[in-house]
Amino acid sequence: MKIIGNSLEAKVSLTSDDSEIGFLNDNLELIKKVLIVSELNISKGTKKDLEILIEKTTNEKCQRCWMYYNPKDFSKSDKNICKRCEEQLKI
Ligand SMILES: [Zn+2]
Repeated sequence: MKIIGNSLEAKVSLTSDDSEIGFLNDNLELIKKVLIVSELNISKGTKKDLEILIEKTTNEKCQRCWMYYNPKDFSKSDKNICKRCEEQLKI
């Protein structure tokens, strides 16, 4: 069993049928914040019950804010920080 040390390292996939999928998609960002995870995927399934899969993210960790982002969301000039941090440092 793989151990995830920090919830930000987690990638969560939720699978639900038609009855819940709209709600999940509408609240994607909120659910992400509540779970404090860096990746959240929602897909449509056929089972009535909500399926939850937790894996370790393949995203890279920003050395400044410790959030995990897709490698393409990192600063071009400094590979250790994300674009969001880069913006903040410019101000
Ligand atoms: Zn950052």
